[in-house]
Amino acid sequence: MRIKLEHVTKQFPSRNKKSKDIVTAADDLCFEIPDGKLVSLLGPSGCGKSTALNLICGLLSPTSGKIFFDDDDVTDLPPEKRGVGMVFQSYALYPHLNVRKNIMFPLQNFKGEDRLSKEEMLKKVDEAAEIVQIKELMDRKPKEMSGGQQQRVAIARALVKRPRVLLLDEPLSNLDARLRIQTREEIRRIQKETKITTVFVTHDQEEAMSISDFIIVMKNGLVHQIGAPQEVYDDPANLFVAKFLGTPPINVFNGKISNGYLYIGEDAVMKIKTEAADGDVYVGVRPEGFILKNDGKLHCELKNVEVMGRDTSIVSSNKASVDAAVIRSIISSEERDLINGDKVCFDLKPYKVFIFGKDDEKRIAYEVEGESK
Ligand code: ADP
Ligand code: MG
Repeated sequence: MRIKLEHVTKQFPSRNKKSKDIVTAADDLCFEIPDGKLVSLLGPSGCGKSTALNLICGLLSPTSGKIFFDDDDVTDLPPEKRGVGMVFQSYALYPHLNVRKNIMFPLQNFKGEDRLSKEEMLKKVDEAAEIVQIKELMDRKPKEMSGGQQQRVAIARALVKRPRVLLLDEPLSNLDARLRIQTREEIRRIQKETKITTVFVTHDQEEAMSISDFIIVMKNGLVHQIGAPQEVYDDPANLFVAKFLGTPPINVFNGKISNGYLYIGEDAVMKIKTEAADGDVYVGVRPEGFILKNDGKLHCELKNVEVMGRDTSIVSSNKASVDAAVIRSIISSEERDLINGDKVCFDLKPYKVFIFGKDDEKRIAYEVEGESK
């Protein structure tokens, strides 16, 4: 099923009772989630991800705007009529019920002609347990299982009603690092098998990048960019998106455009063509965008060299660097021989270099040696 949000806004009165301010948790959201895809809502804490998810499932109704499931307007439909399955960060399992009864719970609320016999319920519970691979745990109570197993039970419970849409709100946050990776792969597998349209909320860019067909990057209730993970990484719309995606994060410098050259601090690093006026800009360079060279155009002070298996990470500093005290650049191990002394010089790979306006922080297009950016 396709989900569509049309100009959806949600405002709350401020939580601070004395203030009359209004919080706009979702600000004119317009996007479409195609049928059968897994889409992540990604952004820092407080950016409106849970609000957006709760609007989709019907736990919140919008201040304005409309929500469609396929062509049906569901804006005023209560959650139980929308056919959605929800999974939360806290698994919210019933502690006194075993796994079987926890999964069965949503089926017991069916009334009238939807009512199911015990056999029908058990069959559906078995199918859901099979999908998330917990059939051998059916008689356990929640406290007798690991966090990852409990979250699988919560997913089975969301799947048992055969929802048209699966909504997951930071489902991996309570798991340790290893289980997080395992469980996210599991969620991707389940989604691919069931082909249920899925919305996955996370503040973790790596998580979103690794499992999604599309990501929707949000900040302050606004959508900043929508695209396939690699597309958004390679082509960020603004400085916020560029900084939010990628580990190690993008290196940001104070720079300027002047007389057909891009400068980082005092170093002219590239000859460029752009329609933007001369003046100050931010320059973002991905860690993999540096080429170590004795006569490289960007001059930095060497701080440290970290060897991590295949990659070598050079930690250096440059006065033009914004925020971060150090610059991280990843080079191939062969280039390492070029390091000596306390200075390092780099040339930059143009497709890893982004220019942003100083005021609006939006991407500035430029060309270098015939390549378009
Ligand atoms: P996220 O899930 O991205 O962390 P939320 O959607 O929970 O963000 O919250 C977005 C903003 O809306 C935050 O500033 C939050 O404080 C505010 N907010 C959320 N729910 C309420 C509410 N019920 N009352 C007042 N403010 C709220
Ligand atoms: Mg949240």
